[in-house]
Amino acid sequence: MKESFLTLETAQKIASVFPTPFYVYDEKGIIENAKELYKAFSWNRGFKEFFAIKATPNPYIIKLLHSLGCGVDCSSYTELLMAKELGLSGEDIMFSSNETTAEEYMLANDLGAFINLDDITHIEFLKRQAGIPERICLRYNPGGNFTLDNRIMGKPADAKYGMTRLQLSEAVKILRDEGVKEFGLHAFLASNVLGNEYYPALARLLFETVRELEDEEGVHFDFINLSGGISVPYKQDQEKVNISKISQGVRKAYFDCFPRGGKRVFTELGRYMLAPYGELVTKVLHFKHIYKEYVGVDASAANLMRPAIYGAYHHITVLGKEAEPCTNYYDVVGSLCENCDKFAVDRPLPPVEIGDLLAIHDAGAHGYSMGYNYNGKLRCAEILLHENGSFSMIRRAETPADYFATFSFMPEFSAYKQ
Ligand SMILES: *Cc1c(COP(=O)(O)O)cnc(C)c1O
Repeated sequence: MKESFLTLETAQKIASVFPTPFYVYDEKGIIENAKELYKAFSWNRGFKEFFAIKATPNPYIIKLLHSLGCGVDCSSYTELLMAKELGLSGEDIMFSSNETTAEEYMLANDLGAFINLDDITHIEFLKRQAGIPERICLRYNPGGNFTLDNRIMGKPADAKYGMTRLQLSEAVKILRDEGVKEFGLHAFLASNVLGNEYYPALARLLFETVRELEDEEGVHFDFINLSGGISVPYKQDQEKVNISKISQGVRKAYFDCFPRGGKRVFTELGRYMLAPYGELVTKVLHFKHIYKEYVGVDASAANLMRPAIYGAYHHITVLGKEAEPCTNYYDVVGSLCENCDKFAVDRPLPPVEIGDLLAIHDAGAHGYSMGYNYNGKLRCAEILLHENGSFSMIRRAETPADYFATFSFMPEFSAYKQ
């Protein structure tokens, strides 16, 4: 059974201060999960998780994770700025970008971030724009299909990211001659993967490649970055990965390749760190009985886009009715003028009433952050629920002034100046 970390009472308390819809994050869950990750990888000296900031770009979340030992993985100018404003720099920032601008490389270099080069042609570009740092990471794309137990988990050959194996060797040579002293290797070959086999298989591939590159080119690799991609059980019948088993699989590959150790293992998890610990709370506004039964809510795909664009399943709890049997089938829909704006289709739920609060599960990563303003919809607030039951606003909701701010140079909208 999937259970919400929210009770009806807590959700009502929050709703009495902040109008629905809103995101709520479970501080306790975030902390326990991050601690468990660090414990699982404690065999590796220097292990570090660089939280993929794009998953949940909220300063409070980043500070919380930073207090637990995590850095951030950035891929754009504003993501770097967010890290900078929070006082992060140097070894706390991984910059894994692609199609990078000069400004982005300059800021990343100024911050002393780990720069993860997506392409061999970026060496020359980086050199011209920001200079080559003494430590650099390379992103690998092995091509072909990435398989586990004969199942295709990803198609690197179709992915725009990373360098070919030959380009890696070439890049290492060029960078070595440019004075690079320490290298890192990175790859992201499969996304949203459940099960305990992905990281160990990816790790073995990267560790073996590092050994080859060290032997061939006489350089030193300092770290291997396993990137993101570990999923969470969105559906009732799915199981959470066993992070300690995953880590043991990585450890086995590590000591097979590096019997004397000495390499740091990094991760850039987003979904795994946050998805289960964020829920979107929305209120039932309307019913509609036509060819199907519709439950209309005050959130829309503009708040949480995954169901609309990926057909992604997000579990829904009708708060206060957790024990009631799911006897009715509903399409739970938002108000966008887009027929894909459906949080659930033919979903069995207990009988729903107008005014009920629904918790949409596993929205803590790639949820709020993928939101948009279509149909003039405003982004909602984000709330952090503390272990003692109190809560804090960690982002206010947008107002029309935010929406019109980009027109505030026009006399008609000057009243919306902030
Ligand atoms: C998106 C992304 C991540 C995080 O992915 P998750 O699926 O959330 O774990 C990590 N690294 C890079 C380079 C990414 O683009």
